[in-house]
Amino acid sequence: MLLVSGLMLLDLRQDAWDKAEQTSRNLLQVIERDIARNVEVIDLTLRAAQDNLRMPGLVKLDPDMRQLVLFDRATSARDLGVMFVLDENGDVVEDAAASPPRKGNYADRDYFQAHKANRHLGLYVGRPIVSRLTGERMVNFSRRIDKPDGSFGGLVLGSLKLSYFGHLFDQIGLGREGAINLYLRDGTRITRHPYLEADVGVNIAGSRTFDRFAREGVGTFVETSVRDGVRRLYTFSRVGDLPLILNVALGVDEVEAGWRAKAVVIGTVVLVLCGFTVALSLLFGRELRHRAAMQAELARLSLTDALTGLPNRRRFEEAFEVTRDGARRTGRPLSLLVVDADHFKRYNDRYGHAVGDEVLKGLARSLSAAVHRPDDLVARVGGEEFAILLPDTDGDGAMRIAGKGHEAVARLAVPSAGIGAGAVTVSIGLATDHGSAQERPEGLYQAADAALYEAKSGGRNRTRCDPGPVGAGRGKMHPLRLARG
Ligand code: GH3
Ligand code: MG
Ligand code: MG
Repeated sequence: MLLVSGLMLLDLRQDAWDKAEQTSRNLLQVIERDIARNVEVIDLTLRAAQDNLRMPGLVKLDPDMRQLVLFDRATSARDLGVMFVLDENGDVVEDAAASPPRKGNYADRDYFQAHKANRHLGLYVGRPIVSRLTGERMVNFSRRIDKPDGSFGGLVLGSLKLSYFGHLFDQIGLGREGAINLYLRDGTRITRHPYLEADVGVNIAGSRTFDRFAREGVGTFVETSVRDGVRRLYTFSRVGDLPLILNVALGVDEVEAGWRAKAVVIGTVVLVLCGFTVALSLLFGRELRHRAAMQAELARLSLTDALTGLPNRRRFEEAFEVTRDGARRTGRPLSLLVVDADHFKRYNDRYGHAVGDEVLKGLARSLSAAVHRPDDLVARVGGEEFAILLPDTDGDGAMRIAGKGHEAVARLAVPSAGIGAGAVTVSIGLATDHGSAQERPEGLYQAADAALYEAKSGGRNRTRCDPGPVGAGRGKMHPLRLARG
């Protein structure tokens, strides 16, 4: 869930960036075309004036006619400023807007110096200046006039008010941190939107952003602004063939703002869902473990005798089968003792059932104490009947265990009921299997049970050993009588 939503959020973020870049590029293209067209109109007028000045009869015309011939109507457009012809000293000699021309000397301006020094500048774009005639901010475009001998003969000059850019950018919304900048190729800022007087004329040459503008010509990158330290997405291009660089810059924070709001909502929902899933899984896991433990306990209880805590008849039968099969496979001997309390009815009759139960518990403890190997199994298989399964034990070994059983039972006492040691006795039937070869047809348990019957009829409180399979040659009995306590 986290991975998928993470990838989705990354994808949405990429979309936001793509959209911002596309918007910037479109905007840049529209603005760039508008500026290029306007400058072209000015330049056409400058070229026309440049050509017309070479007309031989021009000096003979009266000033009004000369003005009409030199400048076309385009110069009266709203955002166009002055249009002058300057002589080689920088004095105004022709003025598109006044006849006789307004007085002025512009020999100190950068464009005048540049044209004077270099004959091949073509169209020169000057630094933004404040007009001496109108006080307005403008940028000048100029072309040199050569005298017939090729020497400097002055220049034609047309200007574009910075208010033109203001009108052009006015309706464009770029967010709080967005901006549009127009630079000269030397790094001088001509104008900026949103407009601030202090930004005009500032030179940012040498900054990381401007270096890339100048070097790459067209492109997009993210960089921190030298002007205000804001990280922006810059999309930039040259303006036609002019020595101008235009860029549209969007605040990185604002590019991602919409995406971020969505990411917070989606992220929160996903995290909450994940939290729920984890919590439910933990609860579910706990419940499963709880059930498994309960089932294991039930399974244990179903195989355990409630009174004595010994394995019950079911457990014994299961173990008996497994052990017998194992013994048949390996050929190892397997012995079984079937133990029955003597005259148990009497304890019940004399002391009551509760005391009878106490005696049974005592018998369980005594018989358990008689065996030591981990594989030995003492089970309660009936009312006062127990079975002791002895894997890997031959007749003699089983006989010793039976003896220990008798000894342990002899020590059993229930003082609260006045039953002393030696009062309780058991009879034991013993049978041993020696691998499949000597298996008896009636089965081990029946053989042990028959031996038990022998022990009972032989006087009780003793062990009788099953004679073994017919023809096995081991038909000897082990009568064993223990002294009463
Ligand atoms: P013997 O085996 O020596 O021939 O005599 P017995 O009195 O033990 O004979 P029998 O096997 O016929 O009687 C078993 C008696 O054991 C019957 C019942 O009173 C008693 N008994 C069986 N199960 C329980 C039990 O869970 N609790 C109690 N208190 N007595 C039980
Ligand atoms: Mg009995
Ligand atoms: Mg019995």
